[in-house]
Amino acid sequence: MPVTPVALSHAEDLADFIAASPSSYHAAAEVARRLESAGFTRLHEEDAWPALTGGRYVVVRDGAAIAWSVPADATATTPVQIFGAHTDSPGFKLKPQPTTGSRGWLQAAVEVYGGPLLNSWLDRELRLAGRLALADGRVVLADTGALLRLPQLAIHLDRGVNNGLALDKQTETQPVWGLGDPTEADVLGELASSAGVSATEIRGYDVVLADSARGAVFGKDDAFFASGRLDDLASVHAGVVALAAHEPQDGGPIAVLAAFDHEELGSKSRSGAAGPFLEDVLERLYAGLGADGSARRQAYASSWCLSSDVGHSVHPNYAAKHDPVVQPVLGSGPILKLNANQRYATDAVGTASWRTWCDTAGVVTQEFVSNNSVPCGSTIGPITATRLGIRTVDVGIPILSMHSARELAGVSDLHDLARVAEAFFAG
Ligand code: ZN
Repeated sequence: MPVTPVALSHAEDLADFIAASPSSYHAAAEVARRLESAGFTRLHEEDAWPALTGGRYVVVRDGAAIAWSVPADATATTPVQIFGAHTDSPGFKLKPQPTTGSRGWLQAAVEVYGGPLLNSWLDRELRLAGRLALADGRVVLADTGALLRLPQLAIHLDRGVNNGLALDKQTETQPVWGLGDPTEADVLGELASSAGVSATEIRGYDVVLADSARGAVFGKDDAFFASGRLDDLASVHAGVVALAAHEPQDGGPIAVLAAFDHEELGSKSRSGAAGPFLEDVLERLYAGLGADGSARRQAYASSWCLSSDVGHSVHPNYAAKHDPVVQPVLGSGPILKLNANQRYATDAVGTASWRTWCDTAGVVTQEFVSNNSVPCGSTIGPITATRLGIRTVDVGIPILSMHSARELAGVSDLHDLARVAEAFFAG
């Protein structure tokens, strides 16, 4: 069945969002920028916050962003509906003393970030992007655009390569970015000039590699969407689109978007899901509604968290890696993730609620469960549930090539996820 024009334009908008979000810091800034232009007010953690009834707000902490929309009649015990996702993606991060090279080549020293499919990073035009901490105390975003490449060794020099390619994480992953003498060059200068500052002003940096190619729709009936960082910017984007469209209703819940950093590393950081960011924001949000700790916990007891991250579509060439019966596929709807060992937080009550939100949105859903011999990963859902005690459901969209530099999703699923998120925010 052909995808709808509105699903196609959602995918194009996602391509814009991902192009603007080469690093988690850019993603958090882009979340705030989009929501501010939709009428949200930017708050800063170091300021006093206003009494929060009847408003729409967004706050950024490093590479994470939390935004919320409060109905005018909200009270100290109004529940929250939290849509959770993550801003970071597996790849590479720039090391200290990053300018290297030899044999006439300039190279950049990088460290593996999370669990990327290493060989998917070969032969792509890559950008360096992230944040620079400057001598005057400012922190600025920098993005070089296409600058680097990890060139694969020619087959003539590696005759066995098609029997299996294994890259050494240190010696075979250092990209080239120019020609010349590394003692006379500075890759930080490229970042500095992209940010309009001088390299001598840089006192610290958090900078990653990102594929510079834009996301694209293709395939029969425009079914496919390929892009870097679909994990998990597809979910962050769906949450932003849904929250921007959400009109808070009297008697309705407080709608929250929580986009965390560092999920690919296990979420343990001040901007990760295992850190205090969400709890800090909820505490201040409820204090603005006159809640004490007891009233806040009363609100939590009827609250929900929808934790959205990508999951595995069945792969036609490797079907035996999946459960023999439960085999979600691209284009057949967002997935509900289930795992007996609580790698996902979904339970019976959560399953029933997810089905209700999907029905309300008119969206068909699929289930995901692992093959017992191929255990699944985990995500922010169980961590959020453990921290706050809020009932949590793990969901997402099915993709192929998870953790590749360029992943593959279904166009209709991307838009369907945003539609369910909207139904979820309405309560
Ligand atoms: Zn993920």
